Amino acid sequence: YYDVLIVGAGHAGAQAAISLRQLGFEGTVAMIGDEHYPPYERPPLSKEYFAGDKGFDRILIRPAAFWEERKVDMLLGKRVKSVDPVGKTVTVGEEDIGYDKLIWCTGGSPRTLTCSGADAINVHAVRRRDDVDAMMAKIDTISHVTIIGGGYIGLEAAAVLSKFGKKVVLLEALDRVLARVAGEELSRFYEAEHRAHGVDLRTGARMDCIEVTDGKATAVLMQDGERIETDMVIVGIGIIPETGPLIAAGAAGGNGVDVDEFCRTSLPDVYAVGDCASHANRFAGGAQMRVESVQNANDQAKTAVSHILGKEEPYDAVPWFWSNQYDLKLQTVGLSTGFDQTVLRGDTANRSFSIVYLKGGKVIALDCVNMVKDYVQGRAHVLSGAALDVAQLADAGVPLKEVGL
Ligand code: FAD
Repeated sequence: YYDVLIVGAGHAGAQAAISLRQLGFEGTVAMIGDEHYPPYERPPLSKEYFAGDKGFDRILIRPAAFWEERKVDMLLGKRVKSVDPVGKTVTVGEEDIGYDKLIWCTGGSPRTLTCSGADAINVHAVRRRDDVDAMMAKIDTISHVTIIGGGYIGLEAAAVLSKFGKKVVLLEALDRVLARVAGEELSRFYEAEHRAHGVDLRTGARMDCIEVTDGKATAVLMQDGERIETDMVIVGIGIIPETGPLIAAGAAGGNGVDVDEFCRTSLPDVYAVGDCASHANRFAGGAQMRVESVQNANDQAKTAVSHILGKEEPYDAVPWFWSNQYDLKLQTVGLSTGFDQTVLRGDTANRSFSIVYLKGGKVIALDCVNMVKDYVQGRAHVLSGAALDVAQLADAGVPLKEVGL
């Protein structure tokens, strides 16, 4: 039995435990995680860790000893398979563990391809340390890599692999990369960058299946009959939230488990935070959504913990995100979902610019590429939801903080 039981030892789980102790909670706390490692940062898996620039110790969220010092019991390599919301227990293997408050922080699992060959041994996802280690173990023996999916993870992996000198083909089914998260200008900019770095980036790409020889993927077959020879396939086509046990226990949800402004699920004393939590986000006009970012995982964890400690502080944090590809540092603030106008600040040819997203004349988000100033100063505009003078906004010579109504 634990006073607070955290399921999932990732970003949100770690932050929940850290916040509990920081705020003086003295009850018993445990974290159950199905990976074998204490919580580590996931973003470097497609960036510095994959590139070999940072070792695993440097991406741990806290040094391993921290959890013992803070009296957080770490139950690692264990998977929760069911939740009993009446008896207030979770089942792990043959064992039932009781809780007073449960914080569900299980993130998501990579969506897999459904075509034949999808389960070949050299078809990889990029979600966990083990995924990346498995790729790194054979990286020196391969030369051709096919990446399926032009989201941030696929693009970041392409940047790392092309730096390694690999021949990379990136296949995106839609007509542009980053279609789900960014406007067209940003998509086109990144497409051009990847091509300039030698990536064979294809949009509107229709793959058929994966050709497998002796258990290994040897080619990606396209619907038009083309055969793309490959030594490795990387699949980055999104995640499916890990909410099975909670939904089976009766929690409301569909795409993720539904939570209110305090991150409470519909089950008593059960909170959910991070990638798996579907919430109404003010920065998307109150739309119900899951947000997959470190910011959201950390801030929701803080919201849930403060509610457990008796404070009613609704989740209302400004979304932010980043992506590193080549020497390009993208920083995003706000959520661009539903924008009806974009304004470009600066010149994409200089590789330092921002795209401001507006909805009904109000700033809802910015994508800033090598443009830290705009990122920092744009935040206030996103927060206030201000309607700004578009001509001023488009003049990169005018600092964002000076752009007014
Ligand atoms: P996770 O960090 O995924 O943690 C969930 C943990 O719970 C996992 O260890 C999982 O194995 C475990 N688990 C699942 N089910 C169970 C169960 N039943 N029992 C026990 N344990 C379970 N975000 C950014 O903001 N910026 C970035 O640049 C960025 N880059 C990324 C790059 C990659 C390659 C990936 C994969 C993600 C990236 N993200 C980035 C997203 C960010 O990492 C996630 O939003 C964040 O990890 C979410 O935290 P979480 O705690 O909800 O889930």
